[in-house]
This record gives sequence, C-alpha cells and structure tokens, in this order.
Amino acid sequence: MKNKEIIKELSKKYDSFYLYDESVIDENAITLTGNFPDIEFLYSIKCNPNHNILKRIFSLDYGADAASSKEVEYALNYGLTKDKIYYSAPGKSITDIEETIDKSIIIADSINEIMKIQDIAQEKNISVSIGIRLNPDFSPSPSKFGIDEKAAVEFIQNTKLSNIKITGIHVHLKSQQLDNSYLSDYYGKMLGLSAKFKELLGHLDFINMGSGIGINYSANDKPLDIRALRDSVNIEFHKFKEKYPDTRLLIETGRYIACKSGIYVTKVLDKKVSRGKTYIILSNTLNGFIRPSLAALIKNGEAAEPLYTSSDAFQFLTTDERSAEEKVTLVGNLCTAADTIAEDVTLPSLEIGDVVIITNAGSYAYVLSPLQFSSQIKPVELYLTKDKEIRVL
Ligand SMILES: *Cc1c(COP(=O)(O)O)cnc(C)c1O
Repeated sequence: MKNKEIIKELSKKYDSFYLYDESVIDENAITLTGNFPDIEFLYSIKCNPNHNILKRIFSLDYGADAASSKEVEYALNYGLTKDKIYYSAPGKSITDIEETIDKSIIIADSINEIMKIQDIAQEKNISVSIGIRLNPDFSPSPSKFGIDEKAAVEFIQNTKLSNIKITGIHVHLKSQQLDNSYLSDYYGKMLGLSAKFKELLGHLDFINMGSGIGINYSANDKPLDIRALRDSVNIEFHKFKEKYPDTRLLIETGRYIACKSGIYVTKVLDKKVSRGKTYIILSNTLNGFIRPSLAALIKNGEAAEPLYTSSDAFQFLTTDERSAEEKVTLVGNLCTAADTIAEDVTLPSLEIGDVVIITNAGSYAYVLSPLQFSSQIKPVELYLTKDKEIRVL
C-alpha cells in the first residue's frame, strides 16, 4: 500500500481524515495533456475544491470548469485569466451572472439565460463573449441541461444580440465512460456539431466537449484505454485544428485527475457481536464520506432511516392559485443529473419565480444534506417564533 507509514502516523492524531496524494494528481494530469496535444483541459472544481489540489492543478496549465459563481472566484484566486475559466451550470441567478460576467466565460444554459446575460451586459454597457450549452440532436434524451440543438439554431438565426456574442458551444452528456469507442464516437460527433455551429455563427472561439473520461472504481471495471482513445481521436482533432486553427478544443475532467489521488482514512472505534453478526464501528463514515453508505443503501433498496424512508416520503406544494395543472420533473441547479427530486409529477402549473414547498423537512433534512457540494450558497435556517419573529440561527 502507498503511503502506509504516513497514514499510520496521521491516524495516531486523527480518527478520520482525507489524504490527497499530489504525485497521483500530477501523473493523471500529465497523462491527459501528454496524450492529447490538441486539447486544452479544464479541471472540474466541483469534484474537489481542496485548496492544495486547485493550486497544483492550475499550476499544471489546466483551466477551470466552474459550476457556481463561488467556483469562478476560486479559479480567479489561483491567478487564472478569464479565458481559462468556463462557468457552466443550469439556473444561474442574476447575482451569479453579475459577479462573473467580466471574470469568466459564461456558458448560458437556456435561452432565458442568454437574455438575462444580454440584459446585464447592456446595463453594464459592456460587450461580452459567451458560450451556450447544447442538448444536441445526437443525444437520445430530453435534458435539464443546455438548449435543444434545434431551438438554439432557430434562436441564433432569428435573434439579434447587441451586447453579447456567442463564441463557443458546450456539451456534456455522460460522465464515467470506460469505453473508448463510446468516447471517440462522441468526440467525432462533437467535431461535426462544431463545424455546423461555426457555419451558423460565422466564428467559434471554442468547443467544450465536456467530460466523460471515466476511471475504474470496481475491481471488475476495465480501465479506460487512454492510448487506444488517443490513437482513435488524435487524427480527427488534428484535422479539425488544421481546418479551424482559431477554435480551441476543450475537455473537462474532474474525477480522472483527483479521484485516485485521495483516500479517506477512518478508525475502528468499537467491535461487537450481535447474534453471531460482527459489527465494526468506525469513526465518521456516512458523515465523513457519504458515497459508500449510499451504495449500501441503494443495493439493499429498503428503508434506511433516517437517510431514506420511501419513494413517496415528501409532498411538493406550491403557493400559487393557478388552476391549470402540468406534468413536470423537479430538478435542482447542481451540475449533476442526480439532482432530481421528483420525476413526472402533476402539479399546478409553475412559472419562473413561483415557490415550491417540500414537506417533511423539519428533521433529518439540513443535517443530512451535502451542503459543501459545488460551493453553492448554503440554504439558511430560519425560525418563526410565536410572535411571528423570524430568527436566523
Ligand atoms: C461534473 C462535471 C464534469 C466533471 O465530470 P467528471 O466525471 O468528474 O470528469 C465535467 N463537466 C460538467 C459540465 C460537469 O457537470
């Protein structure tokens, strides 16, 4: 085992801790840049915004894939320039846009958002370049991410924008691919899509092909064959660069860089036997590193109080009086499709600005939520007294 003595030494002091190994970060970072010379890589900060990791990865000439305005700020703090910071997330607020408009390249996630950015740029009397995230025709499904390709084409053909210029496209369909033929096929489609948008827009500063590069988690996973991928895509990348030398080719990656650099170390606090079954009690597991607990929970598929009760444990209400109903899917503004709270539910029809209430949130709610993820602004906890006074904790 790597770093065994260090881990033993550290665990004398700490019952549980994360340890990130810079040598692994370097190795992974260089594997990608070394094998794909026509690509500029962006590190997806949301996978791990640890200070030392960010410092290291940005010193290795990686740009930033930021999933919130806070992550744009992080990237700036490490000295990245605007053209190396790409801010992509659904549901950006006015404040998010105002804070990042002149510090990053914003990737608009919807047509509403393009117009929001346009309005803010106009107010500030500045001219900005933005990208748009697309849900391309070659993707098989509807998506909460991006603008459907057809709608984007129509928009570009029919809309005159005064203060913004669309200079790039972004697509990210599926993470954690281990099959190099899926990825090379995907990159090929992206180059085709880019040629189309280059034609349509007249110019294209960048195409951001998102992530997809996976890693072997399970002992049964066959690792992605990076060399085979390189051999099947580099000729196409190179041809594209020769034809469009002014268009930068970007790929985002989070887990490939950071995942295997880290271990979580915990300690046995107790050991007991109940009716022949032996339990090892460890320090800070669900609360220190939630993913292994989730794996056990999903596998068992049964109630796992208080993390999971049943599939219908929460109701979704709205304060609105509208009588029309609509079948909708409720999702959040994190950059992951896992951020879905209800699929195909029928609710009074909702509009931007409406309120949605989720019931049963007084216990095992705030305390069990991964509040750090994506460095989003945390929800506040308010208290209403009998005198109708609101207290902020
Ligand atoms: C989360 C995310 C990534 C990073 O994905 P990995 O699988 O960790 O490489 C890249 N791009 C976008 C748009 C993302 O939301």
